[in-house]
Amino acid sequence: MHPVVDSAGSLVSQSIPATLGTRVPLVSGPDAEYANLDHAASAPCLRAVRDAVDEFLPWYASVHRGAGFASQVSTKVYERTRDVLRRFVDARRTDSVIFTRNTTDALNLLARSVPRHTSVVLFDTEHHAALLPWRGPNVRRVRTPRTRLAAVSAVDSALAATPEGPRLVVLTGASNVTGELLPVAEIAAVARKHGARIALDAAQLAPHRPISVRDLDVDYVVLSGHKLYAPFGAGALIGRADWLRAAPPYLAGGGATKAVTSEGVAWNSGPERHEAGSPNTVGVYALGVACDQLAEHWGAVLAHETELLTRLRKGLEAVPGLTQLRLFDDPGDEVGTLSFTVDGFEPGWLAAVLSAEYGIGVRDGAFCAHIATKRLTGGAQAVRVSVGLGSTAEHVDRLVLALRQIVARGA
Ligand code: PLP
Repeated sequence: MHPVVDSAGSLVSQSIPATLGTRVPLVSGPDAEYANLDHAASAPCLRAVRDAVDEFLPWYASVHRGAGFASQVSTKVYERTRDVLRRFVDARRTDSVIFTRNTTDALNLLARSVPRHTSVVLFDTEHHAALLPWRGPNVRRVRTPRTRLAAVSAVDSALAATPEGPRLVVLTGASNVTGELLPVAEIAAVARKHGARIALDAAQLAPHRPISVRDLDVDYVVLSGHKLYAPFGAGALIGRADWLRAAPPYLAGGGATKAVTSEGVAWNSGPERHEAGSPNTVGVYALGVACDQLAEHWGAVLAHETELLTRLRKGLEAVPGLTQLRLFDDPGDEVGTLSFTVDGFEPGWLAAVLSAEYGIGVRDGAFCAHIATKRLTGGAQAVRVSVGLGSTAEHVDRLVLALRQIVARGA
């Protein structure tokens, strides 16, 4: 319908700048195109998503709320998107799909839904959205070791030290600081050995790699639409229904209830239990279209990103004084995100110069992963570059050249 690769097989990225039409006036050239190298923060909207949303806008209405045609259309679209999400992550037929605002919301919902006294094991380098929602004496933050192999053993040891009762491992699929993938399947196998469940934070993995809940053998997956080439405001928690069904509703209100009487409330037991209030029908629809588009074009997406990442890493190696951050010393897969420091240059200043003088958008700071960034930089901050479908080889080359020029002229 709205192909992101054309009939000649051109890459998605080639059609994206035209879609976005993002041109910013630049000091160095008023007509130069904006180089979006900040996909890990939020990815630009796919043309197919924008077109689909445009078509849907006249029809959005409250879901499950009436016989009106628009409400029926919206309900159908909303409910069908649960299947899209289930398919996108290859979930089990029985898994629940709950729409949330984003990954943070989904992880907080899960944190409120785990049984009392659940032991939670996680690495201390996780994004704050995964690191912070868990409370109580049974939360074990494991210092992330320097190899993936050791990471698997570290989870094994931490789980072995947990008390009897429910256990949950929370793990990101890809680091939002370094882009490195975590050994999810291996850690899931260790979790199984200890009778633990595992929640995969796929905020950074889902835009870059197909995910199979069944192959990885994970229990929950969380993701955000705005990192998946859809607009803001919709995310999802997908996973085993039992804890979610037994938990108190995430929000109290309309939509989450089966019946309300003067005597009390009967709450829904399905996903609506945790979706009180009028949902973000448009955002959910956009998220579903984005997932379908990615699923249809994984080959092109992976080829494009691999080429750009290789070009980026190689180009940055030639910038004097630049150090690329890495969580792990052993080799492994990585998505198109990396962070670096440059000797003698403050990251915030570098990012500002890249933006103002070269029209390049990157991120600087500690990326809501303060422990990871501070550890890898020795207590400082970094610049993060992330490529995706809105990035081109020219953007990467422009960044590398810009950094070389900035370093050559000095801080
Ligand atoms: N987890 C990871 C690994 C992330 O990179 C992010 C966002 O940067 C989040 C969770 C939180 O996502 P959101 O801000 O969409 O809730």
